[in-house]
Amino acid sequence: MSNLESVLRNIDARFDASVKKLLELISIPSISSEPSGKEGILRAAEWLRSELSEIGLSAGIIETKGHPVVLAHVSASSEPKRPRLLFYGHYDVQPIGDLKQWKHAPFEPRVIEEDGVQRFYGRGASDSKSQLWTFIEALRAWKAACGSFPAEIVIMLEGEEECGSPSLPEFINDHRHNLRCDVAFICDAEMWSPTQPAITTQLKGLVHERVTILAPNPDLHSGHYGAVAANPIRILCGILADIHDEAGRITIDGFYDGVYEIPDSLRQRWRELDRDAARFEEVDLSGGVTEEGYSTLEAMWGRPTVDINGITGGNQGPGERSVLPGSATARLSFRLVRGQEPEKVRAAFRAYVRSKLPQGCRVEFEGTGGSSAVVLSQDSPFLAAAARGLEQEWASPAILRGTGGAIPLVQQLSETLGAECVVIGFILPGDAIHAPDEHYDTRRLRKGIRSWVRIFEEIRLGIPESKFDRD
Ligand SMILES: [Zn+2]
Repeated sequence: MSNLESVLRNIDARFDASVKKLLELISIPSISSEPSGKEGILRAAEWLRSELSEIGLSAGIIETKGHPVVLAHVSASSEPKRPRLLFYGHYDVQPIGDLKQWKHAPFEPRVIEEDGVQRFYGRGASDSKSQLWTFIEALRAWKAACGSFPAEIVIMLEGEEECGSPSLPEFINDHRHNLRCDVAFICDAEMWSPTQPAITTQLKGLVHERVTILAPNPDLHSGHYGAVAANPIRILCGILADIHDEAGRITIDGFYDGVYEIPDSLRQRWRELDRDAARFEEVDLSGGVTEEGYSTLEAMWGRPTVDINGITGGNQGPGERSVLPGSATARLSFRLVRGQEPEKVRAAFRAYVRSKLPQGCRVEFEGTGGSSAVVLSQDSPFLAAAARGLEQEWASPAILRGTGGAIPLVQQLSETLGAECVVIGFILPGDAIHAPDEHYDTRRLRKGIRSWVRIFEEIRLGIPESKFDRD
C-alpha cells in the first residue's frame, strides 16, 4: 500500500473518533466578542494546544492584548529543505444571538441524520471549527500512518477572528520569525457547491464607518416644531438614499477612483459559472439591485459596494414618543476591490456627507483602518498542487473563485512574511454561519480531511525545495 493510501485508510478507520473529538470542541462556547466568552476562549485554546501536542507538534498558547493564539510547529525531519507550510484557522465563534431562534442547542452538538445527511448543529460547527479540524486531522493521520509529518508545519489558530482580529497584525509582526513559511493555507472559506471544491483567489477589502447627523437642537416636540425644524433622521436617510443611483452605481465622488475593471478573461470564466443558477438557491435575491452591466457573480466578487448596516435615532422605546430627534446615526460597510485604498474611500464618503449637510446641522464620523482587496497569484505551484489534490478527492475540478468577504489576514501574511497564500475551505453558503442553527456534515468533514492529505502528497511530489534554510 502506498503512503497516501495508508493515510487515507487511517482517516476512514478513525473517522468516528475524529467526529466525536470535533463535537467536543464545538461544545466549548468560545465567543470572542462577549466578555462572558472569555472562559470558553481559554478552554478552547487549551483543548487545541493539548490536541496538537498529542499528535506530536510542539504547541503553546501565546497571549496577545486580546485573546490568545495557539501556535504549533514541527520541524523535526531527516529530509532536508522540505517546504514549510503554515495553516491558519480560528477557534473563536460568533455570539449565538436569540437562543429562541435555535431549534438545536448551540453548544450541545451531536450527529443526527436528516434526508440521508449526517449533520451536526452548533455555533462554530462550520465557521470555523470543522475547518481547522480538517488540517489537524490530516496531519494526525499522516503522522500515524507514516511516522513523520509531510512537511515542515506551522499552525496558527486565532481566537478573535469574529471580532475583527485586533491583535493579529501585532502578533504576526512579533512572531514573524516563527511564522515564516513557503505557503500559508488559510482554511476559512467556501466550497463552490456540495460536490465541487474551490480555491478563493480574490478577496474584497473592508472599511467600516459610523456617521452621526446632529440637529442644531436637542430632541424637540414634533407637534410644535415638526413643520419647521431640521430632522436628522430625515436628513440622514436622504443622504444614504442618494448613495446609489437607479443603475445601482455609487454616486460618491471619487469612490471608483483606481478601481480595476474585471479583466475580460476573468469575466468570461465567471459568466460560465453564473449559469449555475442553483448556486443562489439558498437566498432569495428578489428586491435586490445588481449594478447595471454586471452579472450577479461579477457584482459579488469584482465590484465595490456600500451597505448601510444599521440606523438609529429618536424613539426606540416600546411606546410612542412624538419627537424630532436631536441626532441620528448610521453604520456602513464598504467592500473594496483592487485599486481602492481604505483611507481614500473613507475620505470620499466623509466629503460626500459634508457636501449634503444642511446649514446649522453638524456631522460626526467614527471609524479608522480597514483592509484593501487582495488578488492572489494564480500561477503558484502551491495553488496548482492544491487544485490537483482537491480535484482527486472530489472528482471534480476546483473552481478558482472570488468572494465578497474580507480576510485581512491574507494581506498581513503576504506583506509581513512575504508568504504566498492559498485560501481553501469547505464551508457552504447553506451552513447558516453567523445565524441560528449553524451546521455542518460528516461527509464534508471526511472529504475535507482527505483533501489536505492529497494536497500534502501533491506538494511532496511536486515541490521538493523550501526557500528557507534550516534553523
Ligand atoms: Zn465567521
